[in-house]
Amino acid sequence: MKIGAPKESARGEARVALTPESAKQLQKLGHECLVETGAGIGAGFADEAYREAGVSVVDDAATLWRDAEVVIKVREPSESEAERLHKGQTLISFFWPAQNEAMLKKCQATGATVIAMDMVPRISRAQKMDALSSMANIAGYRAVIEAGNNFGRFFTGQVTAAGKVPPAKVLVIGAGVAGLAAIGTATSLGAVVRAFDVRPEVSEQIESMGAEFLFLDFDNDQDGSESGGYAAPSSPEFREKQLECFREQAADVDIVITTALIPGRPAPKLWLEDMVALMKPGSVVIDLAAEKGGNCDLTRADERVVSDNGVIVVGYTDYPSRMATQSSLLYATNIRHMLTDLTPEKDGVINHNMDDDVIRGATVTHQGEITFPPPPPKVK
Ligand code: NAD
Repeated sequence: MKIGAPKESARGEARVALTPESAKQLQKLGHECLVETGAGIGAGFADEAYREAGVSVVDDAATLWRDAEVVIKVREPSESEAERLHKGQTLISFFWPAQNEAMLKKCQATGATVIAMDMVPRISRAQKMDALSSMANIAGYRAVIEAGNNFGRFFTGQVTAAGKVPPAKVLVIGAGVAGLAAIGTATSLGAVVRAFDVRPEVSEQIESMGAEFLFLDFDNDQDGSESGGYAAPSSPEFREKQLECFREQAADVDIVITTALIPGRPAPKLWLEDMVALMKPGSVVIDLAAEKGGNCDLTRADERVVSDNGVIVVGYTDYPSRMATQSSLLYATNIRHMLTDLTPEKDGVINHNMDDDVIRGATVTHQGEITFPPPPPKVK
């Protein structure tokens, strides 16, 4: 089959769904690869590198969308991209079907099949295709780099001839994939790291990375976990305890990285205005939940704001795109694994097996039908 990656059309998006390396692997599966000219340049992959890997470089998006039997992309399709989709074609990209109902219907009407990378079930077998985790890992790492870029001191403590420097104190709120990556990066830079999550089962992971888990003294069965390893909304009593704990931390910590999310809901507000007011001037808040409304009261999506008392609050929402080479390498590998499962005979023929939990779970339109939401996976 002809597998093609267009240049991403969303403003500022530098990632690409096909790399020269992933193209070589796709060719081993019997596929032919196409890329739109310039599609990889923002991620450091020139047209020439694709040509050397056996990829055909096409001149424009219209040609790519016409000729590719499978279109692979990073972002969900734009209106004009959806208009180019046609019957018998497959699109593989992030899609967010629950938030994009109109786009889902539009794609269904074309008769094309759409595989949403954000719908890949989070079961062990599918980890190699888990693009949400790949991107969250990068966001967590980059959050610490962004914090360092805005913070006026070292992360690590030092004793120098010019004086003793204390280590920076970092608080990470939410220890899912992004939070754990942030904890790992901040501890490796020498900071003193504390972390909190409503799911107490993550305490071991936090401590094994050299950070301190902030335990809440809360005597209740309610523990914040819900099925599938995700968080549940907190009870008002639990939330009060949590905010009390954060208020105690506010004057002491230098950097706060917030990553707390609850599936299908706005981000919980956890770092309130009065906590920012308690922080020292020059302290930094990096809010990875900015796209979902933010965990910090002061966060403005895609902006860097400075509070009256000199605290820097960063609400960027494009961390993976800010590390486009790394993100593209990992995302293209996730896509390649999806295509490997879709090509079981390695003969260049796509077998869209709807009895396969992972393929079924991620397929949101198929043969003119909307196939979202999927039934729960049979295997863990
Ligand atoms: P997420 O992005 O949905 O949420 C980030 C974190 O915020 C979570 O750890 C959550 O518990 C936490 N949180 C929510 N409300 C909070 C609050 N009020 N205070 C503090 N923290 C709060 O999470 P994610 O990174 O997508 O991971 C969610 C789960 O999925 C984890 O258990 C992870 O291990 C699991 N997972 C499994 C697989 C797999 O098996 N293939 C892959 C990836 C993730």
